Amino acid sequence: MKYVDEFRDPEKARTLTYAIHQLVERIVRERGGLQRPLQIMEVCGGHTHSIFRYGIHQMLPPEVEFVHGPGCPVCVLPMGRVDDCVALAERPEVIFTTFGDAMRVPGSRKSLLKAKADGADVRMVYSPLDALAIARENPHREVIFFGLGFETTMPSTAMTVLQAHAERIRNFSLFCNHITIIPTIKAILDSPDLHLDGFLGPGHVSMVIGTRPYRFIAEHYRRPITIAGFEPLDVLQSVWMVLRQIADGRCEVENQYGRIVPEDGNAQALSAIQQVFELREFFEWRGLGSIDHSGVRIRESFAAFDAERKFPVANLKIADPKSCQCGEVLKGVIKPQQCKVFGTACTPQTPLGSLMVSSEGACAAHYRYARIDTSALFAHATDASHALGQGVGA
Ligand code: SF4
Repeated sequence: MKYVDEFRDPEKARTLTYAIHQLVERIVRERGGLQRPLQIMEVCGGHTHSIFRYGIHQMLPPEVEFVHGPGCPVCVLPMGRVDDCVALAERPEVIFTTFGDAMRVPGSRKSLLKAKADGADVRMVYSPLDALAIARENPHREVIFFGLGFETTMPSTAMTVLQAHAERIRNFSLFCNHITIIPTIKAILDSPDLHLDGFLGPGHVSMVIGTRPYRFIAEHYRRPITIAGFEPLDVLQSVWMVLRQIADGRCEVENQYGRIVPEDGNAQALSAIQQVFELREFFEWRGLGSIDHSGVRIRESFAAFDAERKFPVANLKIADPKSCQCGEVLKGVIKPQQCKVFGTACTPQTPLGSLMVSSEGACAAHYRYARIDTSALFAHATDASHALGQGVGA
């Protein structure tokens, strides 16, 4: 428990909260006031979860707002791809394997969970290697793994395909829905709906790709970014680091999560990705539309393991239900609780939109935690830190 204790220390949280308030006071003073709150996008769903779970949004001054980004892969999966999963799973010869989160994402007809209840052979696995083991045990069935996620999960899927290739396993294939982070951030920065002042960069993705690929954010778009860890002190320190860049007028890529994220990423993981996958020309995202080069597919040399080549897949565009405002939440245009069906027609028990399904989805995190007011715990942060003389300093 060493790390959990260290990264959840309430006294250090108060000190950081005080430092954040000090920095914001300085920014407001030097700018002669703010026209709108400073908006910091946490790209990753893991950060969204931490922010609400630990009440971090309630510790910040009103001049700073979090904008929840599209970094939860389950949340951005369009309805048409869920329909494709269901159609594949309903084939009698198929065992469809998936991570648990994806089971409850609604499609236009049904979710994978409902397909399972209706008789399809859908099995939850913890890793693609579990799916490969199922393929070895069931040589007369076709085992499909639902490959989902950013560069965080891409290496394990790639390595599983390489393993299946090495073992000449012929009844295993991948329904590939892996997506890439950099084109997505670029699309967000190009969106006229958003006015972001800085980013908390995704910790897990960066563990694979490193920090270099984010340089365009600082150099071209002139926005500060800090790669952040997921414990409460990680997030608070990262917010403070972004604000310090804003206060200093700097735009750089900083790495708060240095204990995990190397500058050059993970060479072995990147090599596996490179061997197995290539960029798609475009990929459809829920709420964000089609984004160029934002998804990957299996290379021709591994075509035998591609479920989209092995089986007919409709790949249709299906619009979300009219009452669903997932797209606006994903783009940060509205907050989860502003969706008309939040907490009524759409709850974690009966999700209408995908953001209510995964624990990393902004709506699910809001529903679960944001209604608990923790601000009183940190109301005296300023006084306490003054008394202790521990302010990090603006
Ligand atoms: S409340 Fe439900 S429908 Fe509305 S944005 Fe959230 S997940 Fe989508």
